Amino acid sequence: MKTSCDKYAVGCYGLTPEQLNRCLRIQDGRCGICRRKRPYRLLVDYDHEANEVLGLLCRQCKPIKDHVVSTGLSPFEFFRRLRAISLLSRRKARG
Ligand SMILES: [Zn+2]
Repeated sequence: MKTSCDKYAVGCYGLTPEQLNRCLRIQDGRCGICRRKRPYRLLVDYDHEANEVLGLLCRQCKPIKDHVVSTGLSPFEFFRRLRAISLLSRRKARG
């Protein structure tokens, strides 16, 4: 699977290819929420206050996440939990 930054350049918020590739590697090229691979470029979810990349989301999940944030849960905490969940599910999948 090609994971060059070029494909993700729009909406990168000036991210380096290393930052993007790290996100893709953490998420296995999948959406950070639904864990599905999408035929289109994932959206970069960026915390402007913390000035950091939170993850990559598909077009379905980004609005959901924005909604979650609007309920008061911090984006950082939200994604920290998501990563923990995804790591667990990956271990299960690999036995
Ligand atoms: Zn998704």
